[in-house]
Amino acid sequence: MEKRLRLAPSPTGLFHIGTARTALFNWLYAKKIGGKFLIRIEDTDFLRSKPEYTKNILEGLKWLGLEWDEEPVKQSERISIHKNYIKKLLESGYAYRCFTTEDEISKLRETQKKEGLPPKHDNRHRNLSKEEIEKFISQGRTSVIRFKIDEKVKIKWLDQIRGEITWQGKDLGGDLVLSRRALGYEIGDPLYNLAVVVDDNFMNITHVIRGEDHISNTAKQILIYKALDFKLPTFSHTPLILNSEGKKLSKRDCVTSIDEFKEMGYLPEALTNYMAFLGWSPKSAEGEILSLNDISKFFDLSDINKAGAKFNWEKLNWINSQYIKNMESMKLNKIIQRYWARMGWEAPSQEWGIKLVILLRDSMSLLKDGIDQSKPFFLLPPIQKEGQDFLQNNNGKASLMLILNYLKEKKIMKLTKEKAKETINEISKIHNVKKGILMKSLRVAFFGCLSGPDLIQSWELFSENKSDILRIERCLIEIKI
Ligand code: GLU
Repeated sequence: MEKRLRLAPSPTGLFHIGTARTALFNWLYAKKIGGKFLIRIEDTDFLRSKPEYTKNILEGLKWLGLEWDEEPVKQSERISIHKNYIKKLLESGYAYRCFTTEDEISKLRETQKKEGLPPKHDNRHRNLSKEEIEKFISQGRTSVIRFKIDEKVKIKWLDQIRGEITWQGKDLGGDLVLSRRALGYEIGDPLYNLAVVVDDNFMNITHVIRGEDHISNTAKQILIYKALDFKLPTFSHTPLILNSEGKKLSKRDCVTSIDEFKEMGYLPEALTNYMAFLGWSPKSAEGEILSLNDISKFFDLSDINKAGAKFNWEKLNWINSQYIKNMESMKLNKIIQRYWARMGWEAPSQEWGIKLVILLRDSMSLLKDGIDQSKPFFLLPPIQKEGQDFLQNNNGKASLMLILNYLKEKKIMKLTKEKAKETINEISKIHNVKKGILMKSLRVAFFGCLSGPDLIQSWELFSENKSDILRIERCLIEIKI
């Protein structure tokens, strides 16, 4: 039988890291077992669902490389089918109309609260007679449809991550509401637990992998599966993603949407690589930098931890830096160029841009670091105090004069790395000035400070840009000695 897995996001917000990790685990496991990865958009909450969120989720999945195998199913297009199944449950006696008003429910909750009991419906309309139902309807009362939950029933399943799970019927909050309120004999809009079972059955889903916050829903859904005589899929409940304090990662932790990760300069390959290890501890995989395809070979649900997974920014940054370091330089240049373009910066040539990216990438953990680190190559940086002090204390002005004169006398217009090294060596020898002093002085002229990327390689770039002489001259004018 074909193995089929799905992600069933509700488009009520931007694509969230938690949903992305669920998608990833589904995708990886589908690949591992040679199954299909499908999407169902659960857009039946008409107040909160928005088409732009659906678009954002699908684009985010694509960006992460988690492509799906069939046209996504839209739950909102299947409402009449869900209602038909509710009707079936009504007719077979598994469900009934419940006319309890909002007021009555609030009162019940208050009493339960006072007694220290959890909220639970008292199933008061489970056995209404035809006449009683008619009376409520003629009074204009609205009704929901409730699914009967036997208090004594034990629901058991073998969770692929957590092992055997048992739930008691009495702990499921009373008879389950399947549909929203409606007037007369109408059936209101179907709710999550009903729709999800009907749709998973329709899509022939064989494996359900979702967050542990759905465990009690699974217990309820298993009862609906049985009542409708549907074949049960296997269930797996993944651990939640936690912040550094061990609480569920939320908007308060600054970044939770995939767009924000993208904006901050994470590469999709790095993010999926990191997310795979969020709650998954493989027995067999070697190393931590692995492509999605490699991970899918090692991936197994039994290696997913039960405990929540703490989000570790340092590890994510490290993984990202590894991907930046190892990325093909043309590709990286193309990506970084987009960041430069936003700043209004343009590389004088593609070759120059590639050389700059190669120079900087070892010290980048995020793509946006490419902005800060490239800045002195596009804009003239101010001379900082440490630069000023260095030149002052080491007769740096004289060193810069020597370099400038050398370049002008020899009419050096374009300096290669080799030529740059040779230049420093020669000046040092002829004028008996330490190489270190010459290079640091030059660094101040180029970068305004004593830190920055490799000086010789930077010089080649400045020379190609014709800004090395200009920077030296500017420094000679600006420094107060
Ligand atoms: N729409 C549900 C959610 O986003 C789907 C849960 C499920 O996978 O069944 O949480």
